Amino acid sequence: MASLNPSIARAWELCYLDPLQAAELGRSVAADGGPQAHEGWLHVALGEVRVGQASKASAALQWARRGYADGADESGLALCDEIQAIVLRRAGDTAASSQLQAAIDARPGLQLAPIHRFIGHNSRAITAKLLGQHDEALRQFYAAMDSAARTGWPGPQLTALSNLGGHHQDLYNLDDARRLTEQALAMAREAGARQVTVTAATNLVIIYHAMGEFQQARAMVEFLSSHTEDLLPDTLKRHAGVLAMGHLGVGEVAEALRHLEGGPTTATADGDGITQWAWLKARCLLARGDAGGARQLAEDTLQQRQQRHLVDLPYDLMALHRVLADACEIEGDSVAALRYMRQAHALYEHLVGRSARARYVALQVAHELAQAQRERDLAMDSRRTVEDDRRRLADLNAALQAQAAETEMLHNQLREQALRDPLTGLHNRRYLFEIAPGLLELARRQGSPVCVVLIDLDHFKLLNDTYGHHAGDLVLQRFSTLLTQTLRRNDVVCRHGGEEFVAVMPEIDTVGAEAVISRLLEAFQSQQTAMGKRRLPRGSFSAGIAVFPRNGHTLEQLLSRADRGLYAAKNQGRARIEMAPGTGFGTLI
Ligand code: GH3
Ligand code: MG
Ligand code: MG
Repeated sequence: MASLNPSIARAWELCYLDPLQAAELGRSVAADGGPQAHEGWLHVALGEVRVGQASKASAALQWARRGYADGADESGLALCDEIQAIVLRRAGDTAASSQLQAAIDARPGLQLAPIHRFIGHNSRAITAKLLGQHDEALRQFYAAMDSAARTGWPGPQLTALSNLGGHHQDLYNLDDARRLTEQALAMAREAGARQVTVTAATNLVIIYHAMGEFQQARAMVEFLSSHTEDLLPDTLKRHAGVLAMGHLGVGEVAEALRHLEGGPTTATADGDGITQWAWLKARCLLARGDAGGARQLAEDTLQQRQQRHLVDLPYDLMALHRVLADACEIEGDSVAALRYMRQAHALYEHLVGRSARARYVALQVAHELAQAQRERDLAMDSRRTVEDDRRRLADLNAALQAQAAETEMLHNQLREQALRDPLTGLHNRRYLFEIAPGLLELARRQGSPVCVVLIDLDHFKLLNDTYGHHAGDLVLQRFSTLLTQTLRRNDVVCRHGGEEFVAVMPEIDTVGAEAVISRLLEAFQSQQTAMGKRRLPRGSFSAGIAVFPRNGHTLEQLLSRADRGLYAAKNQGRARIEMAPGTGFGTLI
């Protein structure tokens, strides 16, 4: 149904708001003869049938049908048949219309747009109403309302509201009729839909009058008189009976009579309005004290109805019997009065029965709609739940992944923490013992040396004792920084404990290692650490160097040898570096 042609799109929007303009738009598209000409013809047909031009509609339908057949558009063809059913109904062949609708319903798998559904339901409702199938009509009108709402266009929605309200009115279910018709009127006025505005307003006069709300009816007459004539000419003339009713309710007999002067005018779907005109006129005569004239007019009308087989609304017929009963009573013919009263009451009971039935069906439909809505909501909820679950799962997965990453990070952190000295940030003994075997093994394979250097700060206890533990800590930190800066990246540096440090230096011989450590000693000796405003004395360290494989094959052996060198360095006055004494461990390179 979605169309790229803006005229067709507009025609869809207008087809239940302004049928003639929609038809005109369709005609222009059809005249262009483009690929959407058949859709243009469809709108010509829809517009013409709605304004009562059945033959024009049929001709246009022929053209539309060809286009849809060429495109093998099954739903388009079904829509053509739907409009054909309206043509048949308007031509008076309700049975043929109903048959065609049943044939359309029997076609499987049609994908119908909301406007298409609305047209179908609305048309079926009217057909059912004409066939006296009130329940079916009511159900179809409700379905039409549902479809109309889905189109999102005001035309179908207010048509559906107005039709449904009108049907409740026919069924004498005045409460629902009033509510729906008031809605339709408000919506029609807002949308500028002249025809529905007038229809809803005139229906409301009747509804208010029947409910005994005469002031409301009179106000609606006022609205019709002052607002609609400029919008829709002849409104006052065509709805003279309704206007008279509004005046009559509040005792404005002269105004009522004036409206009734021209004779019966209000045509309804079920008749030509003669019954309505007659009971109104008879009421006016009665109000003027002319009981005889009122009885005469009313009885003549009943006779005419029988002779001409007129089928006016039961409500009007009831009203006619009531006024007759009143006139007969005033005239003193109590037998006739009782007879007419009984007939009026029978009609009233019939109406009330219809009304009760209508309310029951309306409730049922409302219940079914609510049920459908609930099921849809539940389905959506369950879909939402599934989606929620999926999203939750995804979130959970993401969280788990994040957590896993975090855990790994934490694990790494913990591991790092476990392997690092918190004060200096250097690796600790544990790390040294973890990494050293691999380094030594690699060196063994490569046949390359690994130097192990043991460093001990000189007179550190003195520093602590003189300047406090904090000063000692600062010096330890400064020395650690210097150590990592001076040594190579692939040297492993760690705090061995206290003020002792170990460096494992791969691929370097004792000469190279001694040179590096000498530079470190020089740097440390020249470095002065400030603590607040105080300057701490320059420090020094003593170091012993052992080398793989000469001094040992394991870290323990090498450390032990390096410690010997350190011991020697301390003994020889500190601030110096000593080689581990050769002990016969290992092999000379
Ligand atoms: P030497 O030159 O013979 O090595 O003398 P020394 O004072 O450096 O040697 P000693 O082993 O007698 O003293 C080491 C001191 O280092 C003792 C201890 O209080 C201190 N020390 C150990 N760990 C830390 C630490 O983490 N922070 C501080 N501030 N002091 C520490
Ligand atoms: Mg020490
Ligand atoms: Mg020391």
